[in-house]
Amino acid sequence: MKIEVLEKDEINLRLAIKDASVPLINALRRIALAEVPTMAIDEIVMIENSSILQDEMIAHRLGLTPLKTDLDTYNLPEECECQSEFGCNLCRVTLTLEAESNEGTRPVYSGELISENPSIIPVSDKVPILKLAKGQKLKLEAYARLGKGKNHAKWQPVSLCAYKYYPKIEVPIKECKDCTKCVDICPKKVYIMKENKVEIRDLLACNLCMDCVEACPEKPPLIKVEWEKNALIMNIESTGALPPERIIQEATKILDKQLKEFEQHLKVEAK
Ligand SMILES: [Zn+2]
Repeated sequence: MKIEVLEKDEINLRLAIKDASVPLINALRRIALAEVPTMAIDEIVMIENSSILQDEMIAHRLGLTPLKTDLDTYNLPEECECQSEFGCNLCRVTLTLEAESNEGTRPVYSGELISENPSIIPVSDKVPILKLAKGQKLKLEAYARLGKGKNHAKWQPVSLCAYKYYPKIEVPIKECKDCTKCVDICPKKVYIMKENKVEIRDLLACNLCMDCVEACPEKPPLIKVEWEKNALIMNIESTGALPPERIIQEATKILDKQLKEFEQHLKVEAK
């Protein structure tokens, strides 16, 4: 398997994977979505709420606010040594929010949450939680914990984790006659006209929609769109809770652990 990093920043990771096994990449994709843990607010103690939004709505909005996650320090509550329903400082983080409007209506943003651990804070401090009118007050304590996307989407570390086949396009060289139909119709702007010739501008943008093939006036179409066998382009877009490369690394660790567990069970059963 050959992996090439096409794009990488704090949130996005785009990989070209050649000689890939599609089921393996799909397993990693599903684990990234459902099993890699992240931190999210799970419980709230409402001390005062005179806003027009019900406590449950505020709790729901806070739960869905992505938090920066530290997987090296914190444990999943079910795997933590404390085994306490209230959690300990290795499986729970307390955040507080106290907001009041003295003049006019004002929004309350995620940035107003104060965390006991400065490294577990909202990914963005611009997530609007609610609006307070003059004289309204909100005071609460929120408890965040690690969890998995398969139990609730708020624990999903990725907003997108998908792959597509690696496109393979053959553009006609001679036969084409002053026609720009394929260039015009492509929604991803894969083609470009250069000196009356169709050329490929961005091969990897192709999503194999086949619009260009259908638009070609010649029968059979002169343009040929296919995909490479066992080559994929994978996109991972993090919610910001974890760096995208860490999400994939964790997914491989989890898959490895699951396979070892399976092997162990097999040994016991076979005895
Ligand atoms: Zn604990």
